[in-house]
Amino acid sequence: MKSATKVVHAGVIPDPSTGAIMTPVYQTSTYVQSAPGKHKGYEYGRATNPTRDALQASIAALENGKHGLVFGSGMAATDAVAKILKPGDEVLVADDLYGGTYRIFSRVFAQYGINFVYVPMNDIAEVKKAITSHTKMIWAETPTNPTLQIIDIEGLAQIARENGVILAVDNTFASPMLQNPLDLGAHIVMHSVTKYINGHSDVMMGALVSNDEEVHPQLSFFQNACGAIPGPQDCFLVLRGIKTLAIRMKQHCENGRIIANYLAKHPKVEKVNWPGFPTHPGHDIAKRQMKDFGGMMSFAIKGDLKTATKFVSNTRLFALAESLGGVESLIGLPASMSHAAIPLEERLKVGVTDNLIRVSVGIEDAEDLIQDLEAAFAKV
Ligand code: PLP
Repeated sequence: MKSATKVVHAGVIPDPSTGAIMTPVYQTSTYVQSAPGKHKGYEYGRATNPTRDALQASIAALENGKHGLVFGSGMAATDAVAKILKPGDEVLVADDLYGGTYRIFSRVFAQYGINFVYVPMNDIAEVKKAITSHTKMIWAETPTNPTLQIIDIEGLAQIARENGVILAVDNTFASPMLQNPLDLGAHIVMHSVTKYINGHSDVMMGALVSNDEEVHPQLSFFQNACGAIPGPQDCFLVLRGIKTLAIRMKQHCENGRIIANYLAKHPKVEKVNWPGFPTHPGHDIAKRQMKDFGGMMSFAIKGDLKTATKFVSNTRLFALAESLGGVESLIGLPASMSHAAIPLEERLKVGVTDNLIRVSVGIEDAEDLIQDLEAAFAKV
């Protein structure tokens, strides 16, 4: 089945009790048993819920995976992955990644004796060099947030296979429409569902998909044992959002291409990070592992933190807000917002300078978006 059909149909069957074409919101915490231990496959809401099951099946299908699990947020999903690790284990982590992921690794899991080693993963040779006998996992995000670097997933998968290491890929920026890490050899794919998969900026959720029969039961155990599950109403909303994921992504990509080219030609812009440019260092890999280049980009405005702050405060259609991947365009200043949790030195090493502006291009009319940016440029 092609992805535009999958988003409409995968995982969703007419409700067995009524025939309702849309999976109902099973707003219940428990299920009545006819005798102790005799039930219809559902015992308690933390463990299973039919609305959640449909969503998990849908997201798994989108990633060409067998097993899907959803969590109360993207961070709760990342938390479940890190719980596979034991004290003394080492994780190789891409040095350019979402600030919250850096925070949970460095301030939560590091205190349990897990070592996180930050590696410039756009250079596969550096990853090979960093592997030790303690390495248990490689964690990558591609395209990266916010500098849009591209990491070679197949290259990482080969290293992971050769060394018996788990490869987990945060696929949030690409969405399952543009990139499927399991097909490229990853063991776990993670999503902040909050972003493109839901797409309407009205739900917090995370997801994990895996084909690995050793890894999945552990993740599923943590989902139930630790209990970071989303509610059925949120699962319903995401199921609804997924129906338009394919057409939304098409529009995000089309608008992304227009806005990236506009920014690249602008005299007040120093540099644009967008993997669709042939000059982008990861362009060839992106062409190989992605179906299109997406609507996420960042650019360095000529000037300093003050200039960048003024610019992002003066757009109207591009709402100044954390997050990305919604139908509406968003703009942000990573140094003061999404990446404020990362120490200055680390930030600067990967190009998250004070004048770097991140843009999530929505599905509005591109001409209106350009007018909005033009008006903000006029103010700086
Ligand atoms: N991964 C990436 C790439 C993100 O951008 C985010 C949030 O911005 C997360 C993970 C965390 O997801 P959530 O905010 O749903 O917990």
